[in-house]
Amino acid sequence: MSKVYFIKNSEADYNQLGKDALELLKKIVSEDGHKFEKEVPIKVHFGEKGNKTFIPAKCYDETINYLKEIGVSPSYIETNVLYRGSRTTTELHIETAKSHGFTQIPILIADGDIGTEYDEIEINKEYIKKCKIGKGYGKFKQFIVMSHFKGHIAAGFGGAIKQLAMGFAARSGKLEQHSGISPVVDADKCISCGICANKCNFGAIQNQDTAVIDESKCIGCAGCIAVCPQGAIENTWGGSNFLEKLSEYAYGASKGKDIIYITFVHNITKDCDCSGTVMKPIVDNIGILAGKDPVALDTACLDLVQEKSGRNLFEKGRKSLMHAEKIGLGTMEYEIIEI
Ligand code: SF4
Ligand code: SF4
Repeated sequence: MSKVYFIKNSEADYNQLGKDALELLKKIVSEDGHKFEKEVPIKVHFGEKGNKTFIPAKCYDETINYLKEIGVSPSYIETNVLYRGSRTTTELHIETAKSHGFTQIPILIADGDIGTEYDEIEINKEYIKKCKIGKGYGKFKQFIVMSHFKGHIAAGFGGAIKQLAMGFAARSGKLEQHSGISPVVDADKCISCGICANKCNFGAIQNQDTAVIDESKCIGCAGCIAVCPQGAIENTWGGSNFLEKLSEYAYGASKGKDIIYITFVHNITKDCDCSGTVMKPIVDNIGILAGKDPVALDTACLDLVQEKSGRNLFEKGRKSLMHAEKIGLGTMEYEIIEI
């Protein structure tokens, strides 16, 4: 059984939420005898342009100041997204983050300018043998993963496991989880400009009447999705065993790492912060939960949301938790310690 620490807080007071997050962090540090290294990146979600319900930058101020006070150098860390949006390339991603107020500390985008730089982490699990994790994560041993618990169209919900699985994976790792390997070209949108063929380092794209991807050469780096000016290259979202792959990627992302997880169960929307639209919360705010076991933490968040709403919300994601437990990422059995 894993311990999950909880501070109840339903107010939308972001200064107080920041203080509560720090109190939870300090609790884990003292309970666990945790010793920070000199540099500790904080994994957050900056929110897609147009989204208004991501966790605001000021919620991280207290944690950042505390780390600096104790001699730790913090930074934000993220990877570029798979689809075309305001966080597809490093340049756009940092611009979006800054426009959302994430200006307190340096921002590291771990998978290179267009999301193609990664390290392979061998896990040899049922669906994934090697995870493609953003190269920039490799030089750090410790992280603080700060998540926003909310719904997600494919995963059921997004919390700590999704932060690890998608947030640590390079674009090709995201593609591997969502679909098979190769993206597809929409012939109606393609103007045969040749940009993708020039960009593909694997000679996998032929520029004919439209671009054509040779699946036998494509390694699924997904770089072409980022560079196409027409948005004509897409991944196929309907891949199989997505929920299990998500857990396996989370396993790979956290393998050998020392991570403290803090999750804000606030602004609980139907869809995730990758949605560039204004959404209304569908459940009242609950508070902040934290721990060192991402499976226990996500299970506790899901149970609290279902209890609060009186509905079976986001239940689809429980399959991912069960697989995560099966492969040894953590346990779904938890003890809530309210502080
Ligand atoms: S970059 Fe896009 S529009 Fe240009 S050839 Fe490739 S798929 Fe077609
Ligand atoms: S076609 Fe080339 S650029 Fe596109 S995903 Fe495959 S290997 Fe990467």
